[in-house]
Amino acid sequence: MAPISKEIDFLVIGGGSGGLASARAASGKFGTKAMVIEGKRLGGTCVNVGCVPKKVTFNAAFIAETLHQAKAYGFSLHESAPFDWTTFKHKRDAYITRLNGIYERNLVNDKVEYVHGWAKLLSRNQVEVTLDDGTKSVVNAKKILVAFGTNSDGFFDIETLPKKVALVGAGYIAVEFAGMFNALGVETHLFIRHDTFLRHFDPMIQDVVTAEYERLGIKIHKRSQVDRVDKDAATGKLTLHFKEGETSDASVADFDHLIWAVGRTPATKDIGLEAAGVAVDDKGYVLADDYQNTNVDNVYALGDVTGKVELTPVAIAAGRKLAARLFGPEQFKNARLDYSNIPSVVFSHPEVGSIGLTEPEAVEKYGRENLTIYKTNFTAMYYAMMDPEQKGPTSYKLICAGPEEKVVGLHILGLGSGEMLQGFGVAVKMGATKADFDSCVAIHPTSAEELVTLK
Ligand SMILES: Cc1cc2nc3c(=O)[nH]c(=O)nc-3n(C[C@H](O)[C@H](O)[C@H](O)COP(=O)(O)OP(=O)(O)OC[C@H]3O[C@@H](n4cnc5c(N)ncnc54)[C@H](O)[C@@H]3O)c2cc1C
Repeated sequence: MAPISKEIDFLVIGGGSGGLASARAASGKFGTKAMVIEGKRLGGTCVNVGCVPKKVTFNAAFIAETLHQAKAYGFSLHESAPFDWTTFKHKRDAYITRLNGIYERNLVNDKVEYVHGWAKLLSRNQVEVTLDDGTKSVVNAKKILVAFGTNSDGFFDIETLPKKVALVGAGYIAVEFAGMFNALGVETHLFIRHDTFLRHFDPMIQDVVTAEYERLGIKIHKRSQVDRVDKDAATGKLTLHFKEGETSDASVADFDHLIWAVGRTPATKDIGLEAAGVAVDDKGYVLADDYQNTNVDNVYALGDVTGKVELTPVAIAAGRKLAARLFGPEQFKNARLDYSNIPSVVFSHPEVGSIGLTEPEAVEKYGRENLTIYKTNFTAMYYAMMDPEQKGPTSYKLICAGPEEKVVGLHILGLGSGEMLQGFGVAVKMGATKADFDSCVAIHPTSAEELVTLK
């Protein structure tokens, strides 16, 4: 391996979504001498243990569901087609390895120096890199970007399709994994601390999706807090014990896997943040303002490590804006990501899409008397040919504020919501009103047309 540079203009710690986007923009677009240091695999959480393998698995679950539903359309398929999880997993792994290679080539194309190793801040302008062979190098950097995320769990390492799994957590990752396992025929148990999950989402989403998961046969253990886990030495099976004392129930024994998805913690310990004087909050997230500045000049942070909006496109957009602000021409001197109205999707069953304020947030901001809320629930035409038990819900809600009825919240769940939200997100971001929605002629027959014909 060629010796690594000792002097760099822009040193990025972490080759994930945010770090790669920022380094590539700085070097490829603005000609800055940039370096990325990555300790694991290029692409970070999203590519290796997040969005990408998750969506591929979601697609497999979607196909399983479609196979079940095909009978209603006249196909004579076996209700449960055999599914070879191990082959699927290896193909998924190979796809991700291909992506790792593409990411590395992109760095070469944009002339970013890539170093595989672990970085530690020595000061606000110096980083120590421990290379794979254990040797250490010190790099002087004019500007440093901390762009790395959090620890991950082992969902993507599972080699054979489990019979029975437990997931702990009420956030989108737990809910997505639970939906996928269930669709693939795994006995799925979800342990949540309250009565609903997805608790940062609008109450409509929480209520309808929680009820739908129960209807689909996912065992939701409400108001439960896992306290201890026992592993059977002979079989390797797991039994859960709870703070509330629910121990002897057979339903909480014999798990093949237990997946904790209770929020991820930033990997910011022992990486020298103190040496550089960079402030973190009590959970370990690096404190950064809307321009990604930390409290130390020339040290910046973005993406999951700042704990703001933990989504890949947010890290990418923040990374590109930062590169433009630091290294671009004058017109970008105030460039920053606008963190308002960021759309987000949950690949649950059914899919969820959400942008803007939830109803309780809108009430707090505008007052109930200044809001008009439009809602609809219906059965998507796709289900028209199916038996009642095969029909999933569709629910939409528009939250409008003021006499002009500006759309300040849009919440949808049902088939295709993930793809639908991006377009409606543009409208909300542009400040659309209910009248603007209504002025767009409906596309028939779709589910989306209901959003432009709400009464
Ligand atoms: C299961 C799961 C599903 C998800 N699904 C979605 C989704 O559908 N849509 C979406 O938008 N987001 C999703 N996310 C979130 C998304 O993956 C993250 O928001 C995104 O990857 C954050 O990017 P980042 O650049 O901040 O950090 P990361 O992508 O986490 O990259 C950080 C990199 O830094 C490296 N690193 C850490 N410390 C050091 C060090 N000291 N030296 C060198 N390298 C270091 C790490 O190895 C890592 O590769 C999901 C996350 C998970 C876990």
